[in-house]
Amino acid sequence: MLDRLPVAKTDSLMELGRLMKADPRPMKVDLGVGTYRDEAGTIPIMRVVKTAERSILETQTSKGYLGPSGDADFCRMLQDAFFPDLSAQRDDRVARIQTPGGTGALRLALQIAAEASPSAAVWIGTPTWPAHIPLVQACGLRVETYPHLDASGRFDASAMAQALSKAAPGDVILIHGCCHNPTGVDLDPEMWGAVAAAASQAGVTPLVDLAYPGLGDGLEEDVQGARTLLDQCPNLLMAVSCSKTFGLYRDRAGMLLGVAQSAKAAANFGAVAASQARLLWSNPPDHGAAIVKTVLSDEGLTADWRLEIADMRERVNGLRAQLAALDLGRIDLGPLEAQRGMFAMLPLEHHEVVRMRQDHAVYMDASGRINVAGLNAANIDAFVTGLRALAYEPQAASA
Ligand code: PLP
Repeated sequence: MLDRLPVAKTDSLMELGRLMKADPRPMKVDLGVGTYRDEAGTIPIMRVVKTAERSILETQTSKGYLGPSGDADFCRMLQDAFFPDLSAQRDDRVARIQTPGGTGALRLALQIAAEASPSAAVWIGTPTWPAHIPLVQACGLRVETYPHLDASGRFDASAMAQALSKAAPGDVILIHGCCHNPTGVDLDPEMWGAVAAAASQAGVTPLVDLAYPGLGDGLEEDVQGARTLLDQCPNLLMAVSCSKTFGLYRDRAGMLLGVAQSAKAAANFGAVAASQARLLWSNPPDHGAAIVKTVLSDEGLTADWRLEIADMRERVNGLRAQLAALDLGRIDLGPLEAQRGMFAMLPLEHHEVVRMRQDHAVYMDASGRINVAGLNAANIDAFVTGLRALAYEPQAASA
């Protein structure tokens, strides 16, 4: 039977990692996978995470199952960290479930959407994070796309409005909560208001993918758009990832939050989510969520976590400003300064991405997406030299 399996689709970032590993050059610039890197080029463990882990080691008394819904305190603390005092919470119209990372939350959300409306479409602005479309398809839902950016590289509000005007009740619109992956281009407050109004009017449920809060303009600032949807939409799903904001990638901590029109519908959503989770992963992993709970239940640790996030954000935004100030002729990096989050799409052709790799050992996704946080004082010159060589070489030579 296994020999009849279709050949697995290659994952371009995994392939990039393989090429990089095989590259014998001593100085390689890794701008591929979307993990935050510090100035030393490492994926750091946050101070607060280490402190919380020490405390868990000493105080944890059981490794028993958490149950399919996970740790209710973790979920409530995570919600309150980003969205204190929700009106839907006051009316008991919110239910939460702990998930293995943001991906688990997205998968569960889409599974539930398929259960509610099997013929629903999920509307997605493209380009998007590469897992979004396969996740929708894996749940048997239809994918409908619209352009995320207009010709000038700004968020295409009219394309989103047009998509919503074509959407049917029961459909879902998947929106990046902040720090759009891969473009770094987010909605402004007016656009968030327009989406909330149009989605509510069309009976479309927003599915907010909140994976990078704190890495754009600030912990509060980055969730304002999501907050607008939470306050205004009668139905909403939100996938929250702790992978980036707590640096817990491998510990798989996340949450799916659902807002419904009534307390009864919210409670039923929670029960359906738990029964679906039972079939997908049975019980969520505890360690990452226990760390987040330990941090968020201690004022001092929470304050320190906020400082650590601020340092990460300032480093990324500093790199953005540095890149935007470069004069690279036809390769205009100016827009990077106003964009937010770890990612940016460089205005490069595919063959130029390959040249960066072959001639300068700079590794980035085939689409031209870079992880800005992969740059540091030791490798930025190699990156800029590569771009400059592309920008100023005679055009005929690059054809
Ligand atoms: N959503 C987006 C846009 C992402 O970029 C990622 C991870 O890269 C995720 C969700 C899911 O992250 P995780 O499953 O590691 O929590």
